[in-house]
Amino acid sequence: MSEMRWHPLLEEWVITATHRQERTYHPPRSFCPFCPSRAGRAPTEVPRKDYDVVVFENRFPTFRRQPARPAVRATRLSPVRPARGVCEVVLYSPEHDLTLAGAPVEQIYKLVRVWTDRYRELGARTFVHYVLVFENKGNAVGVTLTHPHGQIYAFPYVPPVVQRELEASRRHYSRYRRCLFCASAAEERRARRRLLFSAEGFEAFVPFYARWPYEVHVQPRRHVQDISQLTEAERWGLAGILKRVAQTYDALFGFSFPYMMVMHQRPTDGRRHAHYHFHVEFYPPHRTAEKIKYLASCESGAGSFINDTLPEETAAALRQAARRARL
Ligand SMILES: [Zn+2]
Ligand SMILES: [Zn+2]
Ligand SMILES: [Zn+2]
Repeated sequence: MSEMRWHPLLEEWVITATHRQERTYHPPRSFCPFCPSRAGRAPTEVPRKDYDVVVFENRFPTFRRQPARPAVRATRLSPVRPARGVCEVVLYSPEHDLTLAGAPVEQIYKLVRVWTDRYRELGARTFVHYVLVFENKGNAVGVTLTHPHGQIYAFPYVPPVVQRELEASRRHYSRYRRCLFCASAAEERRARRRLLFSAEGFEAFVPFYARWPYEVHVQPRRHVQDISQLTEAERWGLAGILKRVAQTYDALFGFSFPYMMVMHQRPTDGRRHAHYHFHVEFYPPHRTAEKIKYLASCESGAGSFINDTLPEETAAALRQAARRARL
């Protein structure tokens, strides 16, 4: 069952996807469904001896191409719709223990090409209004399969976080005739205190308004709306800076750092959104080496994040970790 139920108080969709309860949960390493298939073993999700980057449809999708009719009847107060969309899994590498930090830049460049291709292809479908490229990494983020992979959700609507960014940046643009994202990045470059890297057409920084302790945003310097507009050099630039951010995270506390990585870009709803600016956001759940930041009452019930750290200090700690690791 996959359906969208309207939350009339928050004016947003809630997706019910009950079949996801049967997802494969922490299988032993030798039964990893994302490793290449081996002779004498049951085939994995990839029926080949080797692969490079692989994309396939999620077996436990939140959205479906042909969803069943909703279980309940809609009323005026409670609209319900079939959750029509596409959910894909992107395997980064055939190596079970590789991460973005450990992967060669060439491999991440191939990933950038794949993300671009999927953004274009899924976004071209009329029922797809937003293509969300993301990665959940580590047990602390609730990942059930450790093999390096990301996901792509092709949404039938523009999700609320992106919607809010679109509206805020539209207002900023109409008032100042300048892109809000370009302006923030220029400020970060000037101030330098929260800046981590600035190279090959990209910047990585802890935003002034970080909600998570080690939140990092990665943004192209050029004003582009989506990943498909990147030049060849910028694709390499993006691959390089994503690797550096992941390496910096691992160097921070000396273990493979969990995070959520989310790409924000132009919706594929047929509008231009020329004021919007492509960027990648990282939210790591750790606030110290041992402690996890939970989305507790204030965040969940009031929608207000409490950050126990100062972005200027976490940026300094990340820069120091990058220096130690000679990045
Ligand atoms: Zn594996
Ligand atoms: Zn811009
Ligand atoms: Zn964003």
